[in-house]
Amino acid sequence: MKSTELEFILFDLDNTLYPRTSGLFDHIDRLINRYLEKVIKIPAKEVDRLRRAYLAAHGTTLNGLIAHHAVDPYHYLDFVHDVPLADYLVPDAELAQLIARLPGKKYIFSNASSSHCQRVLDYLGLSNLFSAVYDINYFNFRPKPDLAIYRELLDDIGGDPAKGIMIDDLIVNLEPAASLGMTTVFYDPALKNPPLLPPQGRSLNCLHRLPQLVTELRLRAPN
Ligand SMILES: [Mg+2]
Repeated sequence: MKSTELEFILFDLDNTLYPRTSGLFDHIDRLINRYLEKVIKIPAKEVDRLRRAYLAAHGTTLNGLIAHHAVDPYHYLDFVHDVPLADYLVPDAELAQLIARLPGKKYIFSNASSSHCQRVLDYLGLSNLFSAVYDINYFNFRPKPDLAIYRELLDDIGGDPAKGIMIDDLIVNLEPAASLGMTTVFYDPALKNPPLLPPQGRSLNCLHRLPQLVTELRLRAPN
């Protein structure tokens, strides 16, 4: 990336714009288990194994449920995202200012539903900062890390991957972005040892240090 050429930043939403330690995603995780048990009628002791199998074979639990149980994705997404946000999240005015000041256009790139993304952004006070939200509905329920949706997103924003940054709390989601030439930032507040990152990848353990990292990336780049 040339120092003058940062054009866009893709932000993951869950466990990135709010910390994993908030417990919000654990609540969603419990609702996914409940959906399998109560709605699909999977025996409780089978739920974990089945979720792991669907994740490995289909990318998400949802895609496994669509393939094997003809689940209505809208019903599933409404069920698993029915979370009392106020129990877990705290609006973060400092984060809002920080994101607003970052260079380039900002987008959300999330495996969650449109309504969940909007509710979380509204609650955190971040709704006005993003040019668009690319969620699981937009991609017809195909999730990250499916390379095809990264290409579709870049096409839609007219983005040159060499001029973009992607930040996510899952390395597996960053790998396709790196393979297309984006600079990737792995976010983990509990980061201790350097993880195995994609080529040219960086890591971050505090979101409030993102402006500093972005500045470093731009300064380091050849003009
Ligand atoms: Mg995430």
